[in-house]
Amino acid sequence: MDQSAKPRKEVLFALSECVPFIKSGGLADVGGSLPFALNRKKSVRVSVIMPQYSAIPADMLGELEHVCHFDLSLGWRRKYCGINKLVHRGITFYFVDNRDYFSSDYLYGYGAYEAERFAFFCTAVLEAIPRIGISPDILHCHDWQAGMIPALLKIRYSTQSPWNKIKTVFTIHNLMYQGVFNQSLASDMFNLDVSHVTAGRIGNGGDLNFMKAALTYSDKITTVSPSYAREIMTPWAGEGLDSKLVERQGDVSGILNGIDERSYDPSSDPELAANYSPGNLSGKYACKKALLAECGFPDDDNVPVMGMIGRLVSQKGLDLVERVLEEILMSGVSMVVLGTGDRRYSSMFQDHAARHPGRMAAFITFNNGLARRIYAGSDLFLMPSLFEPCGLAQMISLKYGTLPIVRETGGLRDTVFPFNETDGTGNGFTFHDYNAHEMLYSIQRAVRIFKTRPGDWLRMQTRGMRQDFSWKTSASEYVSLYLSLSRDS
Ligand code: ADP
Repeated sequence: MDQSAKPRKEVLFALSECVPFIKSGGLADVGGSLPFALNRKKSVRVSVIMPQYSAIPADMLGELEHVCHFDLSLGWRRKYCGINKLVHRGITFYFVDNRDYFSSDYLYGYGAYEAERFAFFCTAVLEAIPRIGISPDILHCHDWQAGMIPALLKIRYSTQSPWNKIKTVFTIHNLMYQGVFNQSLASDMFNLDVSHVTAGRIGNGGDLNFMKAALTYSDKITTVSPSYAREIMTPWAGEGLDSKLVERQGDVSGILNGIDERSYDPSSDPELAANYSPGNLSGKYACKKALLAECGFPDDDNVPVMGMIGRLVSQKGLDLVERVLEEILMSGVSMVVLGTGDRRYSSMFQDHAARHPGRMAAFITFNNGLARRIYAGSDLFLMPSLFEPCGLAQMISLKYGTLPIVRETGGLRDTVFPFNETDGTGNGFTFHDYNAHEMLYSIQRAVRIFKTRPGDWLRMQTRGMRQDFSWKTSASEYVSLYLSLSRDS
């Protein structure tokens, strides 16, 4: 049969954040770009379901169309569940509405209430399916917030239509965040006997664990880079779930994330002081000049600017930066940091910015426009992560002609290749051990290459800008995975 004549496989993405509606990190970028790449394939059609947070911009909330509402049982509770939708660039986004759970000004909180919010979301996704008139072949769930969906599907719904035909894929975007709660919540929220927890199917070490539930019950498991897929099967990166992943290794694959190259394109990005392309980088110098002014740095082109953008948490290697920040600032580089997160790190950056006003700037906020101006206006981008499932920031910086300095781990290892001084190959600077002085040496080396080898520098910039970070290859890998699942049935 001709492939184009076959009906498209219906795929429903379930996740907790998605661009352009709401974003705290890379998961939202993936949610806002992979569905579009998949929909370009003839064999699948993707829609998306996510919580309807009040923090979604009001103009978008105003455009939502009501689909249905119903009472949802969550343990002993009965809760209102509304489903609203919006078609955005040809994709239908469904929003799960309940003000008790999603009207706070934060995306993620703490404690048992967090369990209840996402227990509600997981149950709502399954209950919504027959009511919104879609019949997905594949439910593609992302990270712990959607982790109970595959488990509930198999434990509670697997004999009933339309759920009995649904296969599940679960993608780990970050294994560190697992959704770990007291075991009593299994019966309190899902009416599940505690033995499901204690036997380790939806529990780990006696706690209810949403991520473990997904790893047990999903038909296929993916993570966001081939290197991270290997690393999480070892105790040092397995976050206590490595033995489960080893048990499921035949079903685990690593598929590298892409970025939305339409959005992250320095030749058209409206946030920039000037646009530029690999063939003509003059606009990048204008962006640097503008960034120097925005940071209050001296207008000196010869001093490289090193950017850092991301969540200010230990995962991102900030304890290494803390150890040698003074030495970094003595290395002939200026530094601009944009991020939110742990007070320990935000205070560190703010204190140093106050002490070295012409050389260090710290913006402790979440600001998409400023992020783009830093990607464009910097010469270097620092990402010394302890572990990094994929990492999008280094790919975006490469697209903007800004050379990354990264630790060789996870997706950083799969996307950044070290500059070779003999043959000029590479697209950035890397170091291996989780060691502050190895990182410092890489920064000092990058500064030296910036100052002494402008030709090699330019070639690395253009090589990075021309690198293919689109979803093309990875989207095909997801499609093959979906098709393999429907063939199994
Ligand atoms: P993670 O998913 O671990 O947070 P990634 O590198 O995969 O890290 O993705 C982070 C994404 O969030 C990138 O698009 C980055 O530019 C963006 N980002 C992180 N912090 C901020 C911030 N404070 N302001 C604007 N964008 C940010």
